[in-house]
Order: sequence, then C-alpha cells, then structure tokens
Amino acid sequence: MNVHPLPPSAFKGEGMTSQRARDRLAVKLKEEGIRDQRVIDVIRNTPRHHFIDQALHSRAYENTALPIGHGQTISQPWVVARMTEALLEFGTPQKVLEIGTGSGYQAVVLAQVVPQVFTVERIEELLRQARRRFRQLGLTNIRSRHDDGKLGWADEAPFDAIILTAAGDAIPHAVLDQLSPTGVLVAPVGSPSNQTLIRMRGDGQGDFVQEELAAVSFVPLLGGIG
Ligand code: SAH
Repeated sequence: MNVHPLPPSAFKGEGMTSQRARDRLAVKLKEEGIRDQRVIDVIRNTPRHHFIDQALHSRAYENTALPIGHGQTISQPWVVARMTEALLEFGTPQKVLEIGTGSGYQAVVLAQVVPQVFTVERIEELLRQARRRFRQLGLTNIRSRHDDGKLGWADEAPFDAIILTAAGDAIPHAVLDQLSPTGVLVAPVGSPSNQTLIRMRGDGQGDFVQEELAAVSFVPLLGGIG
C-alpha cells in the first residue's frame, strides 16, 4: 500500500483506458525484474500522463523516456521503479533529496512512499510546471527549490537518501557531504554514451560501499541555473 496515496481527484476525468494502461505497465515492470510491491503499486497509481505534453499522452504508459521540453526527458518507468526500489531496500528513508526535478514524476512517486521529499531543479520553467502538478495531485510532502543541484540543499541536510536523475562524471562532493552517515545514494554516473546506475551506502564510519545496478541513459548533470 502507498503510504500517501494520491486523492481520487488526481484521477478525475480519466477513463478506464489510463488505468488499464497503467496495470499493463505494472505487469511489465514485474516481468522486467522490479520486486518491491510498494513501488509497483505506486506506479500503477500515478497518472504519468499529467507529467507530459498532451500530444504525448497516448505514450504515457509505455516503458520509455519521453521529452518534456528544454532538451530534458521524463525518465523511463523501469528506471524510476529501479531507483526507487534501490533507495527503499534497507528501510524507508525519512528525508529524501532529489537532484533534477524535471517533470516531477520521480518526486511524486517518492512522495507516496517516504515522509518527506526535497527536490532541486536548475530550469525554472520545468520547476514551475512540476510545482503545479504537485499541487494538483494534492501532495504536501514535497518541497522544491530552483538552484544548481550540484550544491545539494545544505539547509535541509542530512538526508537519509539522495537520488540524482541526471548523470555526471562523479557524484558532486557537496551532495555526498549531505548524505547521512548510513544513508543511501542512487545516481547515474559516466559519460553520455556509457553510464552506470550506482548505489552508495554509508557504513556509518565515513566510508561508502558502492555497487553497480544497471546500464542506463540519462541527460547530463549541468552546472549553474538555467
Ligand atoms: N526526475 C525527472 C527526470 C528529469 S531529467 C523526472 O521524473 O521527470 C533530469 C533533470 O535534471 C532535468 O530537468 C535537468 O534540467 C535537471 N538537471 C540537470 N543538471 C542539474 C543540476 N545541476 N541541478 C538541478 N537540476 C539539474
């Protein structure tokens, strides 16, 4: 069960077609190795078509990344599911930081399974649209900020979990410094043509255990604000 399910108004006016398409997507995610039932349930109950342009609505429940303007993309549902599952595996983090709000979809998925989500986006227009979606979906546990996410969100640190949804050569130091000593971080790392999804877990002594989870393809982590 979702900890914070979306209200019925989030689904107002949508036909059964969308729900059936989401049910099919949930089955596909399971077939493709997603194990955490909470994550499957949340994706089944999140209207992804709200996060993309009307012209793409018919493709909202395909397991693909889609353009959201400004050269950015909403991540592939499997990737959102895998990253969320990887963050939850050792227990539910209380405070989660996301770098790269984009459409807001990943933040909304997280906000249904953890108490508090903080999300940072460098492109103001994307953030404005994402905030409108958070409001329309009735979510009150997401805080967002227009800033360079390479700096993290110092005033709210430490975070029990951090997720980056854009890929850099390495995890920015400021971001890693804001992870709690036993926290979990999930991020794509590498060059545009060769990226790996990694997970880092603090051992409580100031060191991290790092694992490689999957080959992925994300937009680049850029510096400064747009
Ligand atoms: N999580 C998003 C994925 C968006 S794509 C979703 O669910 O839709 C990645 C996003 O990261 C883009 O919107 C891009 O503008 C943003 N981004 C890239 N570099 C950034 C940085 N340094 N700080 C904040 N956001 C950044």
